[in-house]
Amino acid sequence: MSTEELEMEDRSTDALSFEHITLGQKVLFGAGKAADFLVDEVRRKKAERVMVIAGGRELGIARQVTSHIDVHVWHDEVVMHVPVEVAERARVTAREKKVDLLVCVGGGSTVGLAKAVALTEKLPVVAVPTTYAGSEATNVWGLTKDERKTTGVDDAVLPQTVIYDPELTLSLPVDLSVASGLNALAHCVDSLWAPKADPINAALAVEGIRALSAGLPAIVQNPQDMRGREMTLYGAYLSAVAFASAGSGIHHKICHTLGGTFDLPHAQTHAVVLPYVLAFNAPHAPEAERRMAAAFSADTALEGLNRLRDEVNAPRRLSDYGFHPEDAAEAAQIALEIIPPSNPRSVTLKNLTDLLLAVTCGDDPASVPSDN
Ligand code: NAD
Repeated sequence: MSTEELEMEDRSTDALSFEHITLGQKVLFGAGKAADFLVDEVRRKKAERVMVIAGGRELGIARQVTSHIDVHVWHDEVVMHVPVEVAERARVTAREKKVDLLVCVGGGSTVGLAKAVALTEKLPVVAVPTTYAGSEATNVWGLTKDERKTTGVDDAVLPQTVIYDPELTLSLPVDLSVASGLNALAHCVDSLWAPKADPINAALAVEGIRALSAGLPAIVQNPQDMRGREMTLYGAYLSAVAFASAGSGIHHKICHTLGGTFDLPHAQTHAVVLPYVLAFNAPHAPEAERRMAAAFSADTALEGLNRLRDEVNAPRRLSDYGFHPEDAAEAAQIALEIIPPSNPRSVTLKNLTDLLLAVTCGDDPASVPSDN
C-alpha cells in the first residue's frame, strides 16, 4: 500500500466533527505594492484622519508606505509586549485627534499597539507587517502590566485589511528574519495540538511549515532574495491564521510567560523553545508528528526542524537572552497555570522545569525525557 493510501485509511477511521471559525479579513499581497494598496484602502474606507503607528527602524518604511496618503497623526512610541501605559498614551492621542483609521507599519509590537487602541476606541486597523510575527492575522490582543502579560480575544482588534509587501522585510536583519520566521513556524506547530485544533487549521499549519522551511534558508543564503521573502511572508500569514483558529497551546503559554514575566525577546524566545516543545509533545501526538515530518520532508518532525535550525543558524539557548537556570522553576510554575489541560502530554512542574532547564542551557532537544 502506498503512503497516500495508508494516510487515507488512517483518516477514514476518524469521523470528522469540529467547529471552525474563519475570521473575516482582506489580504492584499504583492512585492512593491504596499503604497498603492494603502492609498486604495484609505479611499475605500473614506478615512479622513489617519493615525500611523510605527516605531524605530520601521519609521522609514512607514514614510515610504504612506507616501500617497494624508497622515493626520504619527505615533512612534512602540514597546514590545505593549505595556498598558504605552497603550493608554496611544489611545489618548487617537481620541484627542479624532482619528478614524489606524494604520500600523511594523512588527508584532507595532501591530499589538494598534490592536490595543482598537480594543478600547473601536477603530478600524489596516496592518502593514514588516516582520513574520503574524499578529496582523489574529484577533488576539496582549497587554503587559506589573510584569504579567495578559492576552485576550476580541474581533474588534482584528485588522480589517492586511497589506503584505515582501519588499518591506528586506531590511529585517538576517538573524531577526530567522527568529521571526521560526516564531511563525511555532504558530504552525503549536496549532496542531492547541485547544481548538481542527483539520482546517491543521491544513494551513502544514502548508505554513512547508513555505517557511523553504523560505527561511533562501533568506539566509541571500537576504535580498525576493522569493525567500515571499515564501516566508506567505508562510507567516498561514501560520497566524492557523494559530488564531486553534488558540494557544503549550508552546505559546511557555513563551508568553518568558516574555511577559522575564522580558525575553519575543521572536528569539519562540525560536529557541520550539524544538524542545516539539520533542516533548510529538511522541504523544502521532498524527501531528506524521504531518509535520511530511511537511519538513524528513523522517521525523524533530529531525526536520533540527535540519532547518542548522541551515539557518537558529538561536540555541535562553541563557543568551538573560534567562538563568535558577529562573526555570518559577517560570514553570507560572506557565503551568495557563497551559491547556488538553495538551497531548500531561505537564507537571517537574517535566516543565526540566524542559526549561534544557532550553536555558541549549541541551540537545532530543534529550528532553519522553516519559512523565
Ligand atoms: P517587534 O515588532 O518588536 O520588532 C522587532 C524589531 O525589529 C523592532 O526593533 C522593530 O523596529 C524592528 N523591525 C521591524 N520590522 C523591521 C524591518 N522590516 N526592518 C528592520 N527592522 C525592523 O518584534 P516581533 O517579533 O515582530 O513582534 C513581537 C510582538 O508581537 C510581541 O509583543 C508578541 O507578543 C506580539 N505578537 C502578537 C501576536 C498576536 O496574535 N497577538 C502574534 C505574534 C506576535
